[in-house]
Amino acid sequence: MGEPIAILREAARATPGRAVEADAFAEIETHAAAADRGEEDLAPSIAVLRRAGILARLATYADPWPDAALVDGIVSLLRRIGRANLSVGRLVEGHLNALRLVALYASPLQRASVKAAVADGAILGVWGADGARPLTVTQEAGTLVLSGEKRFASGLGVVSPAIVSVRTDDGPQLYLVATDLRDRMDMTSWTTSGMKATLSGTYTFDGVALDAQARLGDPGDWLREPHFEGGVWRYCALHVGGMESLAECARQHAKAGGFADEPITAARLADLAMVCETGRLWVEAAARRVERPGAGDTEVAYVLLAREAVERACLTVMETVDRLIGAASFFEGHPADRIRRDLGFFLRQANLDGKRAKAAARIAASDAPMGEIW
Ligand SMILES: Cc1cc2nc3c(=O)[nH]c(=O)nc-3n(C[C@H](O)[C@H](O)[C@H](O)COP(=O)(O)OP(=O)(O)OC[C@H]3O[C@@H](n4cnc5c(N)ncnc54)[C@H](O)[C@@H]3O)c2cc1C
Repeated sequence: MGEPIAILREAARATPGRAVEADAFAEIETHAAAADRGEEDLAPSIAVLRRAGILARLATYADPWPDAALVDGIVSLLRRIGRANLSVGRLVEGHLNALRLVALYASPLQRASVKAAVADGAILGVWGADGARPLTVTQEAGTLVLSGEKRFASGLGVVSPAIVSVRTDDGPQLYLVATDLRDRMDMTSWTTSGMKATLSGTYTFDGVALDAQARLGDPGDWLREPHFEGGVWRYCALHVGGMESLAECARQHAKAGGFADEPITAARLADLAMVCETGRLWVEAAARRVERPGAGDTEVAYVLLAREAVERACLTVMETVDRLIGAASFFEGHPADRIRRDLGFFLRQANLDGKRAKAAARIAASDAPMGEIW
């Protein structure tokens, strides 16, 4: 019998169930409007991904360093999830991020327990953003106890366990903790116009005791590159999916109205196709580079530049789609309205100026001429 990971990777490459996957993405899309209105959470959509084998395919990526074919497959899956519902994509990305952190920094015992939890249906998250009271750890009667809260905690009610960060003088320390207690969740703080279905409210950790298995890696591990900012390509792949679905809304609108071949509209549709393709190519190139063994600061800078390029592409698509569909897309219930709200907000994640500055510094410092830097 071969290695389980090797078998899963083989399955990921073979993509046996294209039709099953297509049905799954279509089903997730049918849930998107109700989730946006707060009539359901994202658990049904995540269950669809699991039943279709998509979560298992994505999990094959967690071990560094996946091969190029696998990385292409993951980019493609994330784009398709993003097309179906960006909020679902946000949770899936957090799950993948957590699985990668476990693969990188967990002890064999922790790995085994996470593997068992995932087999049992757990969706993990990474909650780094501190709330008004940053997370701290204190010793109480020989036990480590957490206090404080996390905000932007995506997937309240769906995600558990989560990997949370606690600031120390030597860098953030990660802990893996259960996050399934309803009375610790505050969804009311999530009053955004977009990505509403992610339920990224606040989770309070006061008095949560940490067991011996909670500590994940050492202080500062979380920020190690190329896995920290280098991993940004995962959510960029979702952004690309979001702009593809927005562009498709515009194409359907023009076709339904019988004016898709009117010259200005046709030129706009061509622009949309071109811009979406630019985003896809950037993300694929970034993912392949940074997921190669030996990737370092140059590859991370490339990923950050890809993020910038994808953001600009998304903004162009949003503007063009607004122009093409017009007022109709601003009415409640129009799919373009939800996707625009979700994508517009999702693009704000996070510290964009800092990311751009880091990429720019690498370019400025390079001895290689433009065109040869990468
Ligand atoms: C949908 C969604 C889901 C999320 N889910 C999670 C999650 O599950 N886990 C998690 O950890 N986080 C999550 N986040 C949060 C994310 O990691 C960031 O914490 C959050 O996006 C911070 O955004 P911000 O706009 O407040 O801050 P920033 O992006 O840091 O700042 C916004 C802007 O403010 C200006 N600015 C800020 N500081 C300065 C300064 N010192 N000097 C000059 N200009 C400055 C800049 O123009 C900057 O672009 C999520 C975010 C979103 C949008």
